[in-house]
Formats: sequence, structure tokens, C-alpha cells
Amino acid sequence: MNTSDKYTIETITEMQTWAANLFSFKTTRNPAYRFIAGQFARLGVTGDGGELVWRAYSICSAPYDDFLEFYSIVVPDGAFTSRLAQLKVGDQVLLEKKNYGYLTTDRFECGKDLWLLSTGTGLAPFLSILQEFDTWENYENIVLVHSVRYRHELAYQEFIHSFKENELFAEYAHKLHYVQTVTRDQTPPSMLNGRITTLLDNGGLEAHVGLPINQERSRIMICGNPDMVQETRQLLLDRGLTLSLRGKPGHLAVENYW
Ligand code: FAD
Repeated sequence: MNTSDKYTIETITEMQTWAANLFSFKTTRNPAYRFIAGQFARLGVTGDGGELVWRAYSICSAPYDDFLEFYSIVVPDGAFTSRLAQLKVGDQVLLEKKNYGYLTTDRFECGKDLWLLSTGTGLAPFLSILQEFDTWENYENIVLVHSVRYRHELAYQEFIHSFKENELFAEYAHKLHYVQTVTRDQTPPSMLNGRITTLLDNGGLEAHVGLPINQERSRIMICGNPDMVQETRQLLLDRGLTLSLRGKPGHLAVENYW
């Protein structure tokens, strides 16, 4: 590991392909690198012209892991991802030393149900949050909603189901409601069909989970596609929920990916 003032150089240790345009990777982690579950890192790669290209990436791994894990889209001709997708185990990425972001559960107070609403790679920060013991202790229910276009884009399913068998989390795993919703594919009865915004608007999501969304019970994180984030936020504001601000806890915390 080499260091500069701004970043460390980390090595890719594992890569997993989930779909043609989706992959995840693990890197080494400088022991001095700190973050809170839900935060994002800034990663750098060398672009085609030799310049450094930096992008924000939510961290999927737990704050206590000795590696970092990221889940990525491949954007055709994207300056960052078209380069990133070519990297292999043993290659290097740059990692800014500073951690970023406010999509963290410490933004909330009280609440009974934690709703984690994501589209696509917006699942990433919630994977980290789910690996924090406090998340499971502090809520009666955790509702993880993953919305994708096609069923084969439902990455990390096995991992999410495996909390039931996990030594640390098994006794809490009954709290997890894992909701998969698909917008452009046939779905089995266990999955929902449609966008998060539609399912919130028509009550389908709450009916499926069996929990109401309201100020008293619900604390809600929203992450991914900016249209989904904006529309969902507005729907929930219209229902009387409020954004969590620094020093003024509310019911909603959001992160836009572009
Ligand atoms: P860009 O030029 O950055 O983007 C081109 C276009 O691609 C965008 O306008 C948008 O239409 C589309 N796009 C960008 N990102 C995505 C995406 N994630 N899913 C679908 N379409 C997208 N990306 C991840 O893949 N995983 C993450 O964990 C992640 N975390 C982020 C956290 C934050 C706080 C922010 C702001 C962004 C995050 N992103 C994440 C997006 C990421 O920073 C880059 O935009 C993405 O890697 C594409 O980079 P690019 O240079 O190839 O294309």
C-alpha cells in the first residue's frame, strides 16, 4: 500500500460479476480508513488519457471488515466505470482517505421500522447498514426494498437471505422483510411488480409488508436513481414525514447517485 496526502492505493482482491452491466469487488483496506455504515468512499482510477478519474462509491462491507467492498454499474462509455470494469484481481484503485455522507442511521431517533428503499446499485449502503448490530437491535422491523428492471439484476440475494443462518444475526433475522420489486420482467408471487413510487402511492408496498408508513413508526432511507429518490421523498413529505437534518432528526434520509 502506497500513500499520498489525499489517498491510499488499494489492491483489488476479489471480483464478482452479477450481470453484464453489474459487478462487485473487494479491495484491501488501510487499517486507518474509517467509515460509518451507509457512508461512501471516493475511488480513483487512471482514465484512458492517463488522467485520474474520481467517483463516489457507497461501501457495501461492514465497518469492522478488514476489506472494503463496492457494488458497481457499468455505464457504456462512462469515464470511470468503463475503466473500472477492465480491472482485475491484483490491480489497484485509489481510495481517498476521507469518508463521506449522511445516509447513516444516527440521523434518526426512536422509530420502530427502518425502511431501506433502493434502486439498482443503491442497494450498496444498505448492505453495510444491515451488517451493523445496532441496526437490528434498534428496530422492530427492517424493510429492505430492492427495485430493479429485470430479475437477474437482483444482486446479493443469497447474502441477504443468509442473515437467517448468520451466527451474529440469526436471532434477529425474523425482523427483516426483504422486498424485491421488478419493473420490466415477469415476477413470481413472492416478488412485487412496479416502481417504488407506484407501490407507495397505491399502498401496495405497505400491504405487501404488512406495516404502515407513518411518523411514529417509520424511519426511511432512500438511495439510488435520482428520479426515484426525488419522487419518493415528495410522496413521503406529502404524508407528513420530514427530512432528517443535522441536529434535527426527522424521518427521511436520502442519497442521489447522479
Ligand atoms: P458518469 O459520467 O458518472 O455517469 C453517466 C450516467 O450514468 C449518469 O448520468 C447516469 O445516467 C448513469 N449512472 C451513473 N451511476 C449510475 C448507477 N450507479 N446506476 C445506474 N446508472 C448510473 N455507483 C455505483 O455503481 N455504485 C455505488 O455504490 C455508487 N455510489 C454512489 C454514491 C454517491 C454519493 C454518488 C453521488 C454516486 C454513487 N454512484 C455509485 C455513482 C458513481 O459515482 C458514478 O456515477 C458511476 O460509477 C458511473 O461513473 P461513470 O464515470 O462511468 O459515468
